[in-house]
Amino acid sequence: GVKRHFPLTKGTVFRRRIGTVRAVDGVSFELKGGKTLGLVGESGCGKSTTVMEVMELAKPQAGRIAVNGVDTATLSPSERRALRTDIQIVFQDPAASLDPRMTVEELIGEPLTVHDVPAKEISRRVRRMLELVGLEPSYARRYPHEFSGGQRQRIGIARALVVEPKILVLDEPVSALDVSVQAGVINLLEDLKQQLGLSYLFVAHDLAVVRHIADDVAVMYLGRIIEYGDSDAIFSNPRHPYTRALLSAVPIPNPQIERTRERILLSGDLPSPTESITGCAFRKRCPLYAILPPEQQNECETRAPELRTVEGRDVSCHWAEQDILQPA
Ligand code: SF4
Ligand code: MG
Repeated sequence: GVKRHFPLTKGTVFRRRIGTVRAVDGVSFELKGGKTLGLVGESGCGKSTTVMEVMELAKPQAGRIAVNGVDTATLSPSERRALRTDIQIVFQDPAASLDPRMTVEELIGEPLTVHDVPAKEISRRVRRMLELVGLEPSYARRYPHEFSGGQRQRIGIARALVVEPKILVLDEPVSALDVSVQAGVINLLEDLKQQLGLSYLFVAHDLAVVRHIADDVAVMYLGRIIEYGDSDAIFSNPRHPYTRALLSAVPIPNPQIERTRERILLSGDLPSPTESITGCAFRKRCPLYAILPPEQQNECETRAPELRTVEGRDVSCHWAEQDILQPA
Protein backbone atom coordinates (compact mmCIF):
# COMPACT_ATOMS: atom_id res chain seq x y z
CA GLY A 1 0.00 0.00 0.00
CA VAL A 2 0.92 3.67 -0.16
CA LYS A 3 2.90 4.76 2.84
CA ARG A 4 3.41 8.39 3.73
CA HIS A 5 6.74 9.41 5.13
CA PHE A 6 5.46 12.19 7.30
CA PRO A 7 2.39 12.02 9.49
CA LEU A 8 0.69 15.15 8.22
CA THR A 9 -2.88 15.77 9.22
CA LYS A 10 -4.00 17.15 5.91
CA GLY A 11 -2.76 18.04 2.48
CA THR A 12 -3.41 15.95 -0.58
CA VAL A 13 -0.98 18.17 -2.48
CA PHE A 14 1.72 17.21 -0.09
CA ARG A 15 0.82 13.58 -0.38
CA ARG A 16 1.21 13.77 -4.11
CA ARG A 17 4.64 15.30 -3.57
CA ILE A 18 5.54 12.40 -1.35
CA GLY A 19 4.87 10.20 -4.32
CA THR A 20 7.61 12.09 -6.10
CA VAL A 21 9.90 11.74 -3.14
CA ARG A 22 9.61 8.01 -3.23
CA ALA A 23 10.35 8.00 -6.93
CA VAL A 24 13.44 10.19 -6.67
CA ASP A 25 14.43 8.50 -3.44
CA GLY A 26 17.31 10.49 -1.91
CA VAL A 27 17.04 11.77 1.61
CA SER A 28 13.61 11.95 3.21
CA PHE A 29 13.02 11.77 6.91
CA GLU A 30 11.18 13.40 9.73
CA LEU A 31 12.44 14.82 13.00
CA LYS A 32 9.62 14.03 15.40
CA GLY A 33 8.88 16.03 18.53
CA GLY A 34 10.65 14.60 21.59
CA LYS A 35 12.28 11.81 19.58
CA THR A 36 15.75 10.89 18.47
CA LEU A 37 16.50 10.04 14.87
CA GLY A 38 19.81 8.23 14.39
CA LEU A 39 21.47 8.96 11.06
CA VAL A 40 24.12 6.37 10.31
CA GLY A 41 26.50 5.38 7.57
CA GLU A 42 30.17 5.24 6.67
CA SER A 43 32.10 8.45 6.17
CA GLY A 44 31.39 9.79 2.71
CA CYS A 45 27.80 8.52 2.68
CA GLY A 46 26.30 12.00 2.79
CA LYS A 47 25.72 12.47 6.53
CA SER A 48 27.56 15.79 6.63
CA THR A 49 25.69 17.13 3.62
CA THR A 50 22.45 16.11 5.28
CA VAL A 51 23.44 17.85 8.54
CA MET A 52 24.17 20.99 6.56
CA GLU A 53 20.81 20.79 4.82
CA VAL A 54 19.05 20.42 8.15
CA MET A 55 20.94 23.34 9.72
CA GLU A 56 20.33 25.57 6.72
CA LEU A 57 16.83 24.24 6.24
CA ALA A 58 17.95 23.82 2.68
CA LYS A 59 16.12 21.63 0.27
CA PRO A 60 17.92 18.32 -0.01
CA GLN A 61 19.32 17.51 -3.44
CA ALA A 62 16.65 14.85 -3.63
CA GLY A 63 13.97 14.08 -1.09
CA ARG A 64 12.30 15.93 1.78
CA ILE A 65 13.13 16.84 5.34
CA ALA A 66 10.18 17.32 7.67
CA VAL A 67 10.22 18.75 11.16
CA ASN A 68 7.32 17.89 13.44
CA GLY A 69 5.19 16.98 10.46
CA VAL A 70 6.01 20.07 8.40
CA ASP A 71 7.95 19.78 5.16
CA THR A 72 10.75 22.34 5.54
CA ALA A 73 10.55 23.14 1.82
CA THR A 74 7.08 24.63 2.36
CA LEU A 75 8.10 27.14 5.08
CA SER A 76 7.65 30.89 4.59
CA PRO A 77 10.75 33.08 5.14
CA SER A 78 9.63 34.06 8.66
CA GLU A 79 8.80 30.46 9.61
CA ARG A 80 12.19 29.48 8.28
CA ARG A 81 13.96 32.09 10.44
CA ALA A 82 12.10 30.95 13.53
CA LEU A 83 12.90 27.31 12.86
CA ARG A 84 16.59 28.14 12.32
CA THR A 85 16.84 29.37 15.92
CA ASP A 86 14.99 26.27 17.03
CA ILE A 87 17.71 24.05 15.57
CA GLN A 88 21.17 24.12 17.14
CA ILE A 89 24.19 21.91 16.62
CA VAL A 90 26.72 20.16 18.85
CA PHE A 91 29.93 19.36 16.99
CA GLN A 92 32.06 16.27 17.12
CA ASP A 93 35.24 17.88 18.41
CA PRO A 94 34.65 20.34 21.25
CA ALA A 95 38.33 21.35 21.26
CA ALA A 96 38.08 22.52 17.66
CA SER A 97 34.66 24.14 17.96
CA LEU A 98 35.35 26.27 21.06
CA ASP A 99 37.48 29.39 20.56
CA PRO A 100 40.39 28.99 23.03
CA ARG A 101 40.64 32.77 23.60
CA MET A 102 37.10 33.05 24.91
CA THR A 103 35.99 32.39 28.48
CA VAL A 104 33.29 29.82 29.09
CA GLU A 105 30.91 32.67 29.82
CA GLU A 106 31.69 34.30 26.47
CA LEU A 107 31.44 30.99 24.65
CA ILE A 108 28.08 29.98 26.07
CA GLY A 109 26.71 33.54 26.10
CA GLU A 110 27.77 34.44 22.57
CA PRO A 111 24.63 33.14 20.80
CA LEU A 112 22.56 35.43 23.09
CA THR A 113 24.46 38.61 22.21
CA VAL A 114 22.87 38.70 18.76
CA HIS A 115 19.48 38.61 20.47
CA ASP A 116 20.17 41.83 22.45
CA VAL A 117 20.02 40.12 25.81
CA PRO A 118 21.45 42.38 28.60
CA ALA A 119 24.87 41.36 29.98
CA LYS A 120 23.56 40.59 33.46
CA GLU A 121 20.88 38.31 32.07
CA ILE A 122 23.45 36.56 29.84
CA SER A 123 25.63 35.95 32.87
CA ARG A 124 22.70 34.51 34.79
CA ARG A 125 21.68 32.24 31.91
CA VAL A 126 25.22 31.01 31.33
CA ARG A 127 25.44 29.89 34.96
CA ARG A 128 22.08 28.16 34.70
CA MET A 129 23.27 26.39 31.54
CA LEU A 130 26.44 25.22 33.26
CA GLU A 131 24.37 23.68 36.04
CA LEU A 132 22.07 22.10 33.50
CA VAL A 133 24.98 20.27 31.87
CA GLY A 134 26.46 19.20 35.19
CA LEU A 135 29.24 21.78 35.53
CA GLU A 136 30.04 24.28 38.30
CA PRO A 137 28.61 27.78 37.65
CA SER A 138 31.99 29.19 38.77
CA TYR A 139 33.58 27.63 35.65
CA ALA A 140 32.14 30.57 33.70
CA ARG A 141 35.34 32.56 34.19
CA ARG A 142 37.68 29.84 32.91
CA TYR A 143 39.01 28.98 29.45
CA PRO A 144 38.38 25.83 27.36
CA HIS A 145 41.91 24.45 27.82
CA GLU A 146 41.28 24.14 31.55
CA PHE A 147 38.76 21.38 30.91
CA SER A 148 38.76 17.73 29.94
CA GLY A 149 37.28 16.55 26.62
CA GLY A 150 34.05 15.47 28.29
CA GLN A 151 33.70 18.80 30.11
CA ARG A 152 34.38 20.70 26.91
CA GLN A 153 31.64 18.77 25.18
CA ARG A 154 29.30 19.73 28.03
CA ILE A 155 30.25 23.36 27.36
CA GLY A 156 29.42 22.79 23.67
CA ILE A 157 26.03 21.41 24.69
CA ALA A 158 25.39 24.38 27.00
CA ARG A 159 26.24 26.76 24.16
CA ALA A 160 23.77 24.98 21.88
CA LEU A 161 21.04 25.04 24.52
CA VAL A 162 21.32 28.66 25.65
CA VAL A 163 18.95 29.94 22.94
CA GLU A 164 16.37 27.33 24.04
CA PRO A 165 16.16 25.34 20.80
CA LYS A 166 13.67 22.56 20.19
CA ILE A 167 16.00 20.44 18.10
CA LEU A 168 19.63 19.53 18.55
CA VAL A 169 21.72 18.17 15.72
CA LEU A 170 24.34 16.01 17.43
CA ASP A 171 27.11 15.44 14.93
CA GLU A 172 29.11 12.48 16.27
CA PRO A 173 28.95 14.12 19.72
CA VAL A 174 30.95 11.48 21.59
CA SER A 175 33.22 9.93 18.97
CA ALA A 176 36.13 12.30 19.76
CA LEU A 177 35.85 11.53 23.50
CA ASP A 178 37.52 8.89 25.62
CA VAL A 179 35.35 5.80 25.90
CA SER A 180 35.36 6.32 29.68
CA VAL A 181 33.49 9.63 29.41
CA GLN A 182 31.20 8.79 26.47
CA ALA A 183 28.49 7.22 28.61
CA GLY A 184 28.32 10.28 30.87
CA VAL A 185 27.73 12.59 27.92
CA ILE A 186 25.17 10.23 26.37
CA ASN A 187 23.29 10.01 29.66
CA LEU A 188 23.36 13.79 29.98
CA LEU A 189 21.91 14.11 26.47
CA GLU A 190 19.14 11.67 27.34
CA ASP A 191 18.31 13.55 30.55
CA LEU A 192 18.26 16.89 28.73
CA LYS A 193 15.97 15.49 26.06
CA GLN A 194 13.48 14.40 28.71
CA GLN A 195 13.77 17.51 30.80
CA LEU A 196 13.55 20.02 27.94
CA GLY A 197 11.38 18.04 25.51
CA LEU A 198 14.05 18.19 22.81
CA SER A 199 14.27 16.29 19.53
CA TYR A 200 17.63 15.00 18.37
CA LEU A 201 19.16 14.27 15.03
CA PHE A 202 21.95 12.01 16.19
CA VAL A 203 24.58 11.50 13.52
CA ALA A 204 26.98 8.66 14.13
CA HIS A 205 28.89 5.79 12.69
CA ASP A 206 28.89 3.97 16.02
CA LEU A 207 25.81 1.79 15.82
CA ALA A 208 26.03 0.65 19.44
CA VAL A 209 25.46 4.24 20.58
CA VAL A 210 22.66 4.80 18.06
CA ARG A 211 20.94 1.62 19.16
CA HIS A 212 20.99 2.92 22.71
CA ILE A 213 19.70 6.41 22.03
CA ALA A 214 17.58 6.41 18.84
CA ASP A 215 13.83 5.99 18.44
CA ASP A 216 14.10 5.93 14.66
CA VAL A 217 17.04 5.17 12.43
CA ALA A 218 17.96 6.23 8.91
CA VAL A 219 20.81 4.34 7.27
CA MET A 220 22.56 6.19 4.45
CA TYR A 221 24.56 4.85 1.57
CA LEU A 222 25.94 6.99 -1.26
CA GLY A 223 23.74 9.98 -0.54
CA ARG A 224 20.55 8.01 -0.13
CA ILE A 225 18.64 6.56 2.74
CA ILE A 226 18.52 2.82 2.16
CA GLU A 227 16.69 1.79 5.33
CA TYR A 228 14.50 3.97 7.55
CA GLY A 229 12.14 3.30 10.39
CA ASP A 230 11.69 2.29 14.00
CA SER A 231 15.01 1.69 15.70
CA ASP A 232 13.96 -1.48 17.49
CA ALA A 233 12.53 -2.97 14.30
CA ILE A 234 15.68 -2.23 12.34
CA PHE A 235 18.15 -3.28 14.99
CA SER A 236 16.36 -6.53 15.76
CA ASN A 237 15.66 -7.41 12.14
CA PRO A 238 17.56 -5.33 9.59
CA ARG A 239 16.34 -5.96 6.02
CA HIS A 240 18.81 -4.14 3.78
CA PRO A 241 21.98 -6.20 3.18
CA TYR A 242 24.04 -3.09 3.97
CA THR A 243 22.33 -2.52 7.32
CA ARG A 244 22.72 -6.20 8.08
CA ALA A 245 26.44 -6.03 7.39
CA LEU A 246 26.87 -2.88 9.51
CA LEU A 247 24.94 -4.40 12.38
CA SER A 248 26.77 -7.68 12.22
CA ALA A 249 29.90 -5.75 13.22
CA VAL A 250 28.27 -4.28 16.36
CA PRO A 251 29.03 -5.99 19.65
CA ILE A 252 25.90 -7.49 21.13
CA PRO A 253 25.20 -5.86 24.51
CA ASN A 254 23.39 -8.78 26.07
CA PRO A 255 24.34 -12.13 24.51
CA GLN A 256 21.85 -13.89 26.79
CA ILE A 257 18.82 -12.64 24.92
CA GLU A 258 20.03 -12.50 21.35
CA ARG A 259 21.01 -15.15 18.92
CA THR A 260 24.65 -15.32 17.98
CA ARG A 261 25.44 -13.06 15.12
CA GLU A 262 28.49 -13.53 12.99
CA ARG A 263 30.06 -10.78 11.02
CA ILE A 264 28.87 -10.20 7.45
CA LEU A 265 31.76 -8.89 5.39
CA LEU A 266 31.51 -6.16 2.81
CA SER A 267 33.86 -6.28 -0.11
CA GLY A 268 35.38 -3.19 -1.69
CA ASP A 269 35.12 0.50 -0.88
CA LEU A 270 32.44 3.10 -1.40
CA PRO A 271 32.27 3.90 -5.11
CA SER A 272 33.02 7.53 -5.96
CA PRO A 273 29.87 9.68 -5.84
CA THR A 274 30.42 10.77 -9.42
CA GLU A 275 30.63 7.25 -10.79
CA SER A 276 27.44 6.56 -12.69
CA ILE A 277 25.72 3.43 -11.55
CA THR A 278 23.04 1.44 -13.29
CA GLY A 279 20.77 -0.60 -11.09
CA CYS A 280 21.41 -0.86 -7.37
CA ALA A 281 24.24 1.41 -6.12
CA PHE A 282 25.19 -1.14 -3.47
CA ARG A 283 25.55 -4.01 -5.90
CA LYS A 284 29.33 -4.19 -6.11
CA ARG A 285 29.63 -4.64 -2.37
CA CYS A 286 26.41 -6.51 -1.73
CA PRO A 287 26.84 -9.90 -0.04
CA LEU A 288 23.27 -10.84 -0.94
CA TYR A 289 23.69 -10.01 -4.62
CA ALA A 290 26.74 -12.25 -4.67
CA ILE A 291 24.67 -15.32 -3.81
CA LEU A 292 21.46 -14.62 -5.72
CA PRO A 293 20.41 -16.68 -8.74
CA PRO A 294 21.16 -14.97 -12.10
CA GLU A 295 17.60 -13.85 -12.82
CA GLN A 296 17.45 -12.02 -9.49
CA GLN A 297 20.93 -10.58 -9.97
CA ASN A 298 19.66 -9.22 -13.25
CA GLU A 299 17.10 -7.10 -11.38
CA CYS A 300 19.87 -5.64 -9.19
CA GLU A 301 21.90 -4.82 -12.30
CA THR A 302 19.18 -3.14 -14.29
CA ARG A 303 16.74 -1.52 -11.86
CA ALA A 304 17.57 0.88 -8.98
CA PRO A 305 15.53 -0.22 -5.98
CA GLU A 306 13.16 2.39 -4.53
CA LEU A 307 12.25 2.67 -0.88
CA ARG A 308 9.31 0.43 -0.10
CA THR A 309 7.75 -0.84 3.07
CA VAL A 310 8.96 -4.23 4.22
CA GLU A 311 8.21 -5.56 7.68
CA GLY A 312 7.29 -2.19 9.08
CA ARG A 313 10.17 -0.04 7.83
CA ASP A 314 11.27 1.48 4.52
CA VAL A 315 14.00 -0.31 2.65
CA SER A 316 15.49 -0.04 -0.82
CA CYS A 317 16.42 -3.54 -1.86
CA HIS A 318 14.59 -5.68 -4.43
CA TRP A 319 15.15 -8.72 -2.25
CA ALA A 320 14.64 -7.31 1.24
CA GLU A 321 12.36 -10.23 2.16
CA GLN A 322 15.13 -12.72 1.44
CA ASP A 323 16.59 -14.62 4.34
CA ILE A 324 19.28 -16.52 2.51
CA LEU A 325 22.00 -14.04 3.47
CA GLN A 326 24.26 -15.89 5.88
CA PRO A 327 27.09 -14.43 7.90
CA ALA A 328 30.60 -14.98 6.64
FE1 SF4 B 1 21.92 -6.15 -2.98
FE2 SF4 B 1 20.34 -6.39 -5.12
FE3 SF4 B 1 19.31 -5.65 -2.78
FE4 SF4 B 1 20.90 -4.00 -4.14
S1 SF4 B 1 18.87 -4.73 -4.75
S2 SF4 B 1 20.97 -4.38 -1.96
S3 SF4 B 1 22.35 -5.43 -5.04
S4 SF4 B 1 20.25 -7.63 -3.28
MG1 MG C 1 15.38 2.34 20.78
